[in-house]
Formats: sequence, C-alpha cells, structure tokens
Amino acid sequence: MTGCPHLARIEIGEEPQEALSFETMLEILPVGAMTCDLATFRIDYANPCSIRLLHSIRDTLGIDPETIVGTSIDVFHKRPGHQRDLLTDPSRLPHKARIPFGKEWLDLHIHALPDSKGRPTRALLVWAVATAEVAKEQEEYRLLRMIDDMPVAVMTVDAADFRISYLNETSKRTLSQIEDLLPVPSDRLLGESIDVFHKTPDHQRRLLSDPRNLPHRTRIKLGPEVLDLQVSAVTGTGGEYIGPMLTWSVITKQVAAEARIQQLAHYDTLTGLANRTTFREHLGAALARPDNRLALLFIDLDGFKIVNDTYGHLVGDALLGRVANRLREHCGEPGILVSRLSGDEFAILVPEANEAGAAALAERLVAALSQPFLLHEDERRLRVGASIGIAVSPGHGTEPEALLSRADIALYAAKAAGKRTFRIFAPDLETRIRENVRIEGKLRHALEDKTGLFLFFQPIVDIRTRIVTAREGLIRWHHPVRGWISPGEFIPLAEECGLIEDLGAWVLDRACRDAAGWTDGARVAVNVSARQLGTGTLAPTILDALVRSGLSPDRLEIEVTETALLNDEVDSLRDLRQIRDMGVRVALDDFGTGYSSLAHLRKFQFDKIKIDGTFVRDATTRPNCAAIVGVVADLGRRLGVTTVAEGVETVEHLDLVRAEGCTEVQGYLLGRPQPSAADAALVAALSAGPAALGQAA
Ligand code: C2E
Ligand code: CA
Ligand code: CA
Repeated sequence: MTGCPHLARIEIGEEPQEALSFETMLEILPVGAMTCDLATFRIDYANPCSIRLLHSIRDTLGIDPETIVGTSIDVFHKRPGHQRDLLTDPSRLPHKARIPFGKEWLDLHIHALPDSKGRPTRALLVWAVATAEVAKEQEEYRLLRMIDDMPVAVMTVDAADFRISYLNETSKRTLSQIEDLLPVPSDRLLGESIDVFHKTPDHQRRLLSDPRNLPHRTRIKLGPEVLDLQVSAVTGTGGEYIGPMLTWSVITKQVAAEARIQQLAHYDTLTGLANRTTFREHLGAALARPDNRLALLFIDLDGFKIVNDTYGHLVGDALLGRVANRLREHCGEPGILVSRLSGDEFAILVPEANEAGAAALAERLVAALSQPFLLHEDERRLRVGASIGIAVSPGHGTEPEALLSRADIALYAAKAAGKRTFRIFAPDLETRIRENVRIEGKLRHALEDKTGLFLFFQPIVDIRTRIVTAREGLIRWHHPVRGWISPGEFIPLAEECGLIEDLGAWVLDRACRDAAGWTDGARVAVNVSARQLGTGTLAPTILDALVRSGLSPDRLEIEVTETALLNDEVDSLRDLRQIRDMGVRVALDDFGTGYSSLAHLRKFQFDKIKIDGTFVRDATTRPNCAAIVGVVADLGRRLGVTTVAEGVETVEHLDLVRAEGCTEVQGYLLGRPQPSAADAALVAALSAGPAALGQAA
C-alpha cells in the first residue's frame, strides 16, 4: 500500500492535541479516497477502502485495482476531457457528482488540494459505490429522462380508469399546439381521462385494458387534425401488465400528402375522374369475380381536336372538365366507374350490365354529349360529339386485354359509321378492321411503287354550248387481289391511316400533268379531302404540282365538300383563301348534303357550286328535289357563280336541270370517267384480267 508522502499535517478542531495525521485519517476512512496529480492526471494515492471498492467494480474498471496508483484518472470517465476541465477549475470545486459506471453508479466528491504555497496542484476524490437501491432509482431516473427527452410524444394511461398518468416533454409541446381542440388546457391534462382526445368507445377501452390486444396502432380525428396512436404494453419485472403506453403524433400534413399522392396516382388531375391505372385495376378485379358480367364503354369525342386547335388548350381543358361532369351525371348509379384514359378518350365500366343496358346508356351519352357546352367564362357555346364502342363480358371476352381491344374495335366502327353514334362489338367488325388494315398496307405499296393507281377524267359540260369546260379527276385503284376498289371505300381508309396527304399529292400531280397536255384548254377539277384541309400543306402541294407541270393556275379547280369545311373551319378557310390567292378556283362539292350549306357560301367566295347527284336523279320523280335544284341554280346566278348539276344520266335529267337554270352538267349521259390515253391500254388489260372483280368506271 502506498503512503501519502506529500500530504501536510492538518489539524482538526481548535485544539491541536491528539491530532490524527491526514494520511492516517484517509487510511482508516470507510469511504474511498484517492488523490490525483493535476499535472499528469494520474492517481497518486488510493486508500485501502478505494482498493476494496475497486475490486467490487473490477469488471467495469478493466485494470487490476492494485495498480490503480499511477493510472490515469480517465479510467473512471467516458469523457475524460470534461473530467479534466472540472478538476483544474477551482471555481467549480468542491464538486459532487453521481456518475454511471457500468451497471453501477459512483458517488463522487471532488475537492481541490492546494500545495504548501496554496496552489491547487492536486485533487482529492472521496467516493463510494452507490447502493443497489440508489443504482436502481438512478437507472429509472435515467430512463425517465430518456423518455422525457425523446423526440416522439409518449403518454401513459392508467389501465384501471384511463386517466393520463404521464406525459413526456414532446407530448406536452405537441399538446400545446393542438390546445384549442382540447376541452382542458394542455398543462392540466395529467390526471384527465383520455376521453379528452375523443370519446373512447368501450371496445377501445377493452382493447387498452387487455395486453393481449397490444401493440395496436390507430388513427383518430381530433377536429381538423389527425393523430397517429401506437399503443404498447408496459409490463413489470414479473411480466405483469402495468398499463398502456401511447406513442403518438399529429400526422395531419402527412395524411394530406398521402391523400394527394393517392389522388395523383389514381385520379386524373384535370377532370377528377379515375385514371387509366385505376380503370385497369377495377376492370381486372371485376373480371376476376365469379359474376363477371359487365359492360365496357369506350368514348371518344368527335371534333375535340378542332376545339383545342381553334380556341387553345385552356378552353380544351375546360371542355374536358364539362364532358367529365356530364358523364358523371349520367353514370350516377353505384358501382359505375367513369374514367379518363387519355386526351379526349373516356371509358366507363358498368357492372352487371348486358348489351341492351349498355346500349341504352350509350344512347343517352351520345345524346347528352351532342348538346352544346356553355363555357361560362366567355359564354362560348362549343359543340362536340361522341362516338362510343361497347364490349360486354362474358360475351365478348373475360380477359381485360380482349375486352379492351374489342371495345376499341367497336369504337372504330362507330367512328367509321359517321360518328356521334355507338356500336356494340361483333365478330364481323373485327374481320372488317383486319381487312381494312390489309388494304391500308396494299395502298401504301401502291403509292410507293406508283402501281395500280390511276386518275380517270369525267367531262363537265356547258349546258348551252356543249363545250367541255372542265374534267374532274377521279381516282381509281386496282388492288392486286380484290381488283378495282371504289374510292368511296379506300379514301376514308387513307384518311384514317394518314396516307391521304401522299395520295392527294399524287392526284394533284397527275391531274396537272395530264391537263397540261390537253389541247382544248379545259380546266381540271381535283377533289380534296377534309384531312388535306386546315394543315397548311395544301397550298404548297398545289404550287409544286403547278410548277412541275407548267399548268396555269386558272386551269386548276379544287373541289371541297361541305363536310370538309365542318372540321377545323378556321384553318380550312385560311387554306382555301391561300389557294384562291394563287389564282386557283375553288368549287363547293356535293352541295345540299351537309349541314348549313348556305352558311358556307357566306364564309367563302366559291367559284362554283356542284349540286349533288342525288337531287338531280330524284328531281324527275320528286318535286321537292326539282325545287331545290332550281333554288340553287337561282342562287348561283345571283352570286355570279357557276352551278353544275352532277349525276345527269338521262335526257330527262338534262332537260330538267336546264329548265331549272343550271349552267353546267356532269354525268354518265355526257361521259363516264375515263382513263387518260396513256393509261387506257393498261386499264383495259387489268379490267379484263382474272383479278377484275369490279368495274373501272
Ligand atoms: P364526287 O366528288 O362527288 O365524284 C363524283 C362521283 O360520282 C364519282 O364517283 C363519279 O364516278 C360519280 N358519277 C359521275 N357521274 C355519275 C352519274 O351519272 N351517275 C352516278 N350514279 N354516278 C356518277 P367515284 O369516282 O366513285 O368517286 C366517289 C367519291 O370519291 C367522289 O365523289 C369523291 O368524293 C371521292 N374521290 C374520287 N377521287 C378522289 C380523289 O382523287 N381525291 C379525293 N380526296 N377524293 C376523291
Ligand atoms: Ca367531286
Ligand atoms: Ca360531288
């Protein structure tokens, strides 16, 4: 055992008699005493009691207690720097501390020990190992502090009466934020029943009082706030249930964000309708049920693109919102799912519906969507329409993919049937579409190879002089297998698949070249499809054809139908004006078959009106038709415009239209469409060949 050589004798009491040396006193002291050199922070003395105590905490100490003298003071402390600061700061001494040491707690008194000159060169540490009881208390205290400081709100409840028995600091802070929603001030909640949060139903009380139900997580609404509660069981050392502990937080913002994400993932932001993903999920689930009867309606707006292009996306978006509302109005029955798949495509899922039910709904929707839409911002009345395709399960398939593609085929058929209508899927629709796809492929080839396509010409004759004033170019196609196919069949296909631009350019080119070779100086009339108008490409294409052929612009006449003007009216008229400005003439074809024929005459100054052949052919038997021919001829005269009667097949027709005042005539009586001289031999050969199934003219 080391002595205590540097200690001066100190005297106790006023009387100096029988004074014990300080050294002796430390030796016999029943508490630990150690001194530490503040220059080296090494322990330079430990009393016998210290050595005994060190033996009792030897596991944590990690060194042989007998070697303690000479060891750094740091062995007692996890944060040596802190300890050293304390030891060398006389103003903080004496210092009393209880420090954790492994499983134990050490009680520590630190005093400054001045040297003979009064300088604090050493420190005296008087210490003891805290009793087991103190250690336990200390441990509990430490845990409590930990829970108190935890960044989550913790609260305990008495299992017997459901009163709040403890709130940690975070709980108190959080409660003060939602104080307005509580019936009691937040600082007086301790001891209150947990019913202050919400009237706890009995089953929930039972849940809290039985640890077998725990842990348990729940969300409760408190006014506008949402609280997340996690209840766990606090148990005693013997495993007995002490009571529930609630870890909780206010998750209102998080819930709102979750809901928003959910909304974004499953709903269309523009219309609020279910999106494609949701629609597919519902369809899959509905078809997987044992009773998988349902109807699928595919809706495509007719003429939406025009609105969007003419008035801009804002108006287009507003219109889609209105369309969605109308769809909702008509699909109010529970279980019906209305969704927006993309752009102007919508889909409706009707559970337990058959063909008849779906058709009835489709009919109502077509009618509803044909009504004009009034966009309140500027009182603008917009008109669109809707085409609908229907497929039903199980009749048309029980797999989502099959059903979707069949509804799509039905939609295609509805559009092909003239739009603003609906079609129910039928197997022959599928074959027809397949056939169309094949024809499209062949037509593409024909255009690329310039084989099988011909332009025939039919004369248009002045009714008085019988002079041919113009020839109308009419396209003919000889399909390698099916023979001659009517333009009435393949022109719509070419429009649908985007071939019409190329086809139209080919026709213009042919027409101008042929006409440039005509010796009688007659004009050439070329038909232009709706899809060629409004895109801004027509004028350049025409210019191209004129330049290449050397044909004078006033010998070219473009024929547009009323229906072509219905689409993209603004852009179409702009294109027509460009053409007129080039000196090319423009004729209004099939007059009387479309809507608002007269309105078109007001909007554009046509050079010619062609009265549809149906009026002429019916005129001899139906007085109404004759009257119409007469009125149009009269109109033409007043406007200073040529009127052509089409479809003149007989002498009676001719006499009638002459009497009604038409200026020109066209029809089989005056000449059928004929190939040009250069094509004549080839056409004759094709028509006579084995593949010839139709008539060339
Ligand atoms: P359209 O412009 O009204 O052409 C007149 C149609 O009536 C032609 O039918 C013609 O052959 C037919 N026709 C002429 N005279 C008579 C007659 O006396 N009686 C009867 N019953 N019919 C007569 P086609 O050639 O079958 O053309 C049908 C439609 O296809 C044309 O109607 C036109 O809209 C379109 N079409 C033809 N060629 C072209 C083209 O090169 N481009 C475009 N975009 N469309 C074309
Ligand atoms: Ca025509
Ligand atoms: Ca016509």
